[in-house]
Amino acid sequence: ADRRLDDLDVTETTCGYCSVGCRFDVYTDDEEVLGVRPTDADHAPANDGFSTCVKGKFGYDFVDSEDRLEQPLVRDRESGELREAGWEEALERVVDGLSGIHEEHGPDALACFASSKCTNEENYLLQKFARQVLGTKNVDNCARLCHSSTVAALKQTVGYGAMTNRIEDVANADCYLITGSNTTESHPVLATRIKQNVRDGADLFVFDPRRVGIAEHADQYTRVEPGYDVAWINGLTRYVLEHDLHDEEFVAERTTNLEELREKVEPFTPAEVERLCGVAPDELANAAETIATADSCVFGWAMGMTQHSHGTQNVLALANLALVTGHVGKPNAGLSPFRGHNNVQGGGGDMGTLPNSLPGYQPVDDPDVLEVFEDAWGERPPSEPGLTVPEVFEEAHAGAVRGMYVMGENPALSEPDIDHAEAALEELDFLAVQDIFLTETAEHADVVLPAASFAEKDGTFTNTERRVQLVRQALSPPGEARQDWQILQTIANRLGYDWSYASPAEVMDEISDLAPIYGGISHERLEREGGLQWPCRDESDPGTPYLYDEEFNFEDGKARFVPADLGEPGELPDEEYPLTLTTGRVLYHFHTGTLTRRVEGIMSHVGESFVEVHPETAAQLGVADGEDVRLESRRGSIEVTAQVTDRPDRGVVFMPMHFADGAVNELTQETFDPISGIPEFKVSSVRLEAAGGT
Ligand code: SF4
Repeated sequence: ADRRLDDLDVTETTCGYCSVGCRFDVYTDDEEVLGVRPTDADHAPANDGFSTCVKGKFGYDFVDSEDRLEQPLVRDRESGELREAGWEEALERVVDGLSGIHEEHGPDALACFASSKCTNEENYLLQKFARQVLGTKNVDNCARLCHSSTVAALKQTVGYGAMTNRIEDVANADCYLITGSNTTESHPVLATRIKQNVRDGADLFVFDPRRVGIAEHADQYTRVEPGYDVAWINGLTRYVLEHDLHDEEFVAERTTNLEELREKVEPFTPAEVERLCGVAPDELANAAETIATADSCVFGWAMGMTQHSHGTQNVLALANLALVTGHVGKPNAGLSPFRGHNNVQGGGGDMGTLPNSLPGYQPVDDPDVLEVFEDAWGERPPSEPGLTVPEVFEEAHAGAVRGMYVMGENPALSEPDIDHAEAALEELDFLAVQDIFLTETAEHADVVLPAASFAEKDGTFTNTERRVQLVRQALSPPGEARQDWQILQTIANRLGYDWSYASPAEVMDEISDLAPIYGGISHERLEREGGLQWPCRDESDPGTPYLYDEEFNFEDGKARFVPADLGEPGELPDEEYPLTLTTGRVLYHFHTGTLTRRVEGIMSHVGESFVEVHPETAAQLGVADGEDVRLESRRGSIEVTAQVTDRPDRGVVFMPMHFADGAVNELTQETFDPISGIPEFKVSSVRLEAAGGT
């Protein structure tokens, strides 16, 4: 590390952790990453001269980790254990496994999972592999577990399932309503920009069951009961309408269906909102008045809104509030879902890795769209929507899904009720996993194919503001590992196809031919101009910084108010399980921890799972700070350390979702939002006792 910087190779690329999409230079020698530095502000619109966060700066030891898969693994037919194998043997096993199921049970007995960590080009090829090569309609990805309810709600109300504005707008709003987002820990650079703007005078309202870090900077932090968000959001909308604080001109000219909304929010009086979710009437009034009269307001949210059995209703309610106050389609305002993974917007949605959408959010059952794909691929994609991730697991239990191909996903840890999910993986006839580590999912596989990390590949990621940015290869993959797109191409060709992409740039050319919102995007242009925000329809289109400045994405150009219904969580506390468990993230870790649990510096800060318990709840249960406790739900039981803190409310406990030991998803319940299929990770009933107790 003390070598002179001039002796090192420098590669400008995009962060592989979260969806903020910070840009930086990676310093490498021939073998390893030696450090990163934020790149020039001109090339880095998301971090715009700001430093990267702790993960961006120090979280790269995983690239050189000794746990990296360097050779394919196959399950030995005699011992039943995974053993090292050559590519030839591994590929043969994949071809036999997939084609055997295809022949015996048909294409829909197969399912493919795409990866929000991989590039757009790799995800495009994964869905093409599913639809063209395997002929299955079943392709989905982990966005099902994070913002599928956002996508469902925004498509209905404004047209595109995506953030309406830029990060620059988030940094310059006059007012914020942030809810269900632990922004300082999950999107640190974005949070830094918000905090700076709040210091400069912007108003910040935070509504959340847990006193998250961003709440410390708020003008008003309002604690809400988990699971009843529609009540307070509809309450805000009702207050705005009742006091004629809505943007009359905007509502009249640019929206439809106000009267139905007005009727639906009528029962949510301040007193009723207080009864339902504990929001004090004066706090409701203060937020409604400030948001409605602000010049611009950004509505920011994340999993705390989406991961509910009524997650789509939550986001519909937020969209209605943003529209009624006229804070959409103009600078420094908008609906801002803070996406999770580095490429969940692109790889998890734009690329068509969804059971109901082809690339560019084109419906799988539109004959005109199917014809375009048939012309390009020489084969018509399946014309019915396929199964979502949770449905795939259900059908695996039922024996209808017999084989899975998983690229860079870890459902064995990320699904709710993981014992149930792991049992489904065990019941499969064949499971192939393509990943950089032997993840909890790969441990169940018949074949594991070693893939490349973000530092070892070329391609693009699309960040939370729809900005497509280049990712550049700084190192070679270790051992015999290969880039994901190369692995998919090899298997497609062994299954009788003739894919001949020479580079990810050629894959992007095909994407831009087939997905109109990417029509003007090419690697050559990104190289020349920097990141581009979709829709970017042709070479002369500069891209779209914020959506809907003139029209919403519907034929009549108008946004729709879609009234939101209040729902109940799928499980409520009772005598047996009296506490509400909610889940989330910590600054130092990322998602299922596959990467960050392999970074020594990060593990030295937060090395194991824990549960946060309110001091009064802890006192009632006789539990002390730092004590080992047992948490039990109807699904399972785990032991972790208690942290006594007033961040959660009385009767509510919080756990992070990053750890395999003391995995929170041993406890979570399997209720799903009926519209989007998202699981209700944010509300489960548990009981807690000192680990020494009986
Ligand atoms: Fe990477 Fe997100 Fe941190 Fe930026 S904020 S450095 S994109 S993890």
